[in-house]
Amino acid sequence: MSTETVKKSAYFIDLEDKYGAHNYHPLPVVLTKGEGVFLWDAEGKKYYDFLSAYSAVNQGHCHPRIIKALVDQASELTLTSRAFYNNKLGVYEEYLTSYFGFDKALIANSGVEAVESAIKLCRKWAYEKKGLTDQSAKIVFVEGNFHGRTLGVISASTDPLSTSGFGPYLPGIIIVPYNDQAAMAEALEDPNVAGVLVEPIQGEAGVVVPDADYLPFIRKQCTDKNILMIADEVQTGIARTGKLLATCGNCSCDGFCENQPEVKPDILILGKAISGGVLPVSAILANDDVMLCIRPGEHGSTFGGNPLACVVSMAALDVIRDERLDANAEQLGRIFRDRMRRMIESNPIVTLVRGKGLLNAIVLDDSEEGKLAWNICVRLSENGLLAKPTHGNIIRFSPPLVMTEDQIHECCDIIEKVIGEFRKQ
Ligand code: PLP
Repeated sequence: MSTETVKKSAYFIDLEDKYGAHNYHPLPVVLTKGEGVFLWDAEGKKYYDFLSAYSAVNQGHCHPRIIKALVDQASELTLTSRAFYNNKLGVYEEYLTSYFGFDKALIANSGVEAVESAIKLCRKWAYEKKGLTDQSAKIVFVEGNFHGRTLGVISASTDPLSTSGFGPYLPGIIIVPYNDQAAMAEALEDPNVAGVLVEPIQGEAGVVVPDADYLPFIRKQCTDKNILMIADEVQTGIARTGKLLATCGNCSCDGFCENQPEVKPDILILGKAISGGVLPVSAILANDDVMLCIRPGEHGSTFGGNPLACVVSMAALDVIRDERLDANAEQLGRIFRDRMRRMIESNPIVTLVRGKGLLNAIVLDDSEEGKLAWNICVRLSENGLLAKPTHGNIIRFSPPLVMTEDQIHECCDIIEKVIGEFRKQ
C-alpha cells in the first residue's frame, strides 16, 4: 500500500474519531462502495461482506430494483408526515399485512422504535382488553436479549455494557433465562404479565438458537394464559434464517412458510432488511383486537410511514420473494455450517458452529489470548472478508442472501485459511 492510499483511510478514521461520539469500536476499514455481496474500501480493495450491516442488507448492497424504487419515488414525494394521507402508505400497509398475514401494520423507522411501539401496544392491550389495573402490566424478557438501545429497551437488558450508568430503568419487567421452559412457565403465572418479548434466535448474543420446542411452548403458554407473544424478528426476519420469518407458520406469503411449525406471534416486529439497507424502516404487525387498542394521537412518528420508505420497502420485499432468497439462505447456510464444522475436528480453537440459514456464528476458545475473535476478524479483512466479533469470543457470519454457491465456498476457503493461522499449538 502506498503512503498516499494509507493516508486516505486514515483520514476518514481520524475524522470520525475527532468529531463523532465514541460509541462504536469499528474495524479499521473505510468503506466507500457496495454492490451485491461485495464492498470496497477507500483504497479500492474489494471484500466479501459477511455482516450485511447487521443483517440489514439481505438483498445485497445497492440492489438495482430497490435503488430504482428509491430514485423514482424521491423525485415525486418523500415526506408528508401523518397529518395528511399519502398515496403510498395504504398501499404499503395492504402489501405488508398480506405478505405477513396480519390485519394491521404500524410503520416506524428503526428497529428499537418498533420494539418500543410493541411494548406500548402490549401494555395498552393489557389495560383495555385483558383488564389489568393501570400501571400494573409486566412484560417478560429473556436473558441475553438484544432489542436496541433506548432506555425502555435497555431496562430489560442483561448486558452490563448496555445498562451500566444509564439508570434508573423502566419498571414492569421480568427477566428469565433463555430457552428455559420451566422458568418461563413460572414467570407467566404472574397475573400481571401482559406479554412475552423474545428473539426467535438471539443474534447479538452470538446467534443462540433455542430448542425446537421452545417457541411453540411460549406460544401455547401465551394462548392459554391470555398473554401476548411478541416476536422481535428485526434481525432474524426477512429470509435471514432460511425462511421468511424464524417464527411465522401461518401467513399467506406465497409458500415461504411451507412446512414450518405454527408459531405465529401476536405482535411481530420487523426492521433492518425490510428496506434492504436503503432507508431506516421498521414495522410492527398485529391483528385488529390488539392493534386497534392504540388510537389517534396516542402514538406516532414524523417520518414513520413516509412514501419513500413505503416504496423502498415494497421493492425490498419483492426482491426477497422474487429471488427466493429464503431458499438460497437455507441452502447456503447448510454448506457454510458443514464446512465450518469440519474445523472443529482439526482446530481446537473452534469450539462450536451454530446458526440457521445465513445467520451463523463460530464460538472460539479464547482462554489464552482474550482478543482472538478481534484478531481473526482483522486478518479476515486483510484477506478480503469482513466479519465482526460479537461478545468477545464469537464471530457472527451473516453475508447478503444473494450470495452464490461458488462464492460461499470461496469465503469458506478464506475463513478456514485465516483461522488455520491461529491454530493452537
Ligand atoms: N432487535 C433486534 C433483535 C436487533 O438485532 C436489533 C439491532 O441489532 C434491534 C432490535 C435494534 O434495531 P435498530 O438498531 O434498528 O434500532
